[in-house]
Amino acid sequence: MVSAARIMERCAALARHSEQPGGLTRVFLSPENRAANELVLGWMRDAGMRAAVDAIGNVVGRYESEHAGAPCLMLGSHLDTVRDAGRYDGMLGVISAIECVHALHGQRRRLPFALEVVGFGDEEGVRFGTTMLGSRAIAGALDPASLEARDGNGLTVKEALRQFGLDPSRVRDVARRKGDVAAYAELHIEQGPVLEAEGVPVGVVTAINGFSRLRATLTGQAGHAGTVPMGLRRDALAAAAECVLALERIAKSDAELVGTVGRIEAKPGAINVIPGEVQFTIDIRAPRDELRQRAVTEVATRIAQIARARNVGCTLETLQELGVAKCAPWLMRQFERAIAAEGIRVRRLPSGAGHDGMAMKTLTDIAMLFVRCKGGISHNPAESITEADAGVGANTLLRFIEDFELPA
Ligand SMILES: [Zn+2]
Repeated sequence: MVSAARIMERCAALARHSEQPGGLTRVFLSPENRAANELVLGWMRDAGMRAAVDAIGNVVGRYESEHAGAPCLMLGSHLDTVRDAGRYDGMLGVISAIECVHALHGQRRRLPFALEVVGFGDEEGVRFGTTMLGSRAIAGALDPASLEARDGNGLTVKEALRQFGLDPSRVRDVARRKGDVAAYAELHIEQGPVLEAEGVPVGVVTAINGFSRLRATLTGQAGHAGTVPMGLRRDALAAAAECVLALERIAKSDAELVGTVGRIEAKPGAINVIPGEVQFTIDIRAPRDELRQRAVTEVATRIAQIARARNVGCTLETLQELGVAKCAPWLMRQFERAIAAEGIRVRRLPSGAGHDGMAMKTLTDIAMLFVRCKGGISHNPAESITEADAGVGANTLLRFIEDFELPA
């Protein structure tokens, strides 16, 4: 039996490890990260697993199969958070998976395959600006250049690993061999309003949407807000405003497309000065790569036109791009079977947010189970789920594990 109450208590316990009191911020390789890892290691061992922190800072627990050394079904999610986060995004998946192993261990039950639970150290990418370091390392898809990324204090990932007591030269040993991991399955809160609107507690993810992240820089001419007539200005911020609205229009042109400017900075940034330089970020996502790529091209063309018409310079850099990660049909069917067996109507849905599965996909087939959250809210302290839904999620995951079969 899984205990929904214990899952909720553990989410609350992890949420207490935060860099700011009264909220939740826990970034990769921070003292709070270390404390959270210690808690999770204890829970894993208590659930009958052998557990340790690997060289990139993931917490990894293994529950051996009835045949030692058998391939594993890997379960997990992330333990890092965004700034001012909720307590379920990531952590719920790790804690629910441990709870499932705990239930099996309680019955002294071993399966024909091993179970591994991973609490990834970095998924959100808050500290170093580069996402999914933990899962990319396990998947063998971590570019060594990522370890040179720097945090806000100029510290590289390598240096931070050393300070954390880890050996960066051993990061490549974290990579698993294909065949050792039969599949990767992640339980995660939905972070959207679909399941709530449909009145179902869980849903099967069909694919994780791809994303493109860019940075635009517009260069105009700074000048006195009182003396330069409107007709003679090269206002970089007014041009950026037009670009933001153009992006919104393009994103609205297709129901499957979303586009966001999440950060904008105007220089020199004074009330009486015409902005001379503006930088803003662009985030575009879609469930189809060609749709996203077309939108990126259209946005780039439109920004260039706006800049030309306003006589401002413009450059566009791509920061990160990841294609759609499709969930494996054979794993989706097994999740659907588990949901139906729990007496719940099966609802399929895509994931608009990125997840570790995008990295794990290079190693093995992936699947995800979404749990309903209140109001579709995440990345926010108001993020909330009910204890009943936590229980349904973990029970569905347990049934999936118990009935798990490799494809013939
Ligand atoms: Zn997450």
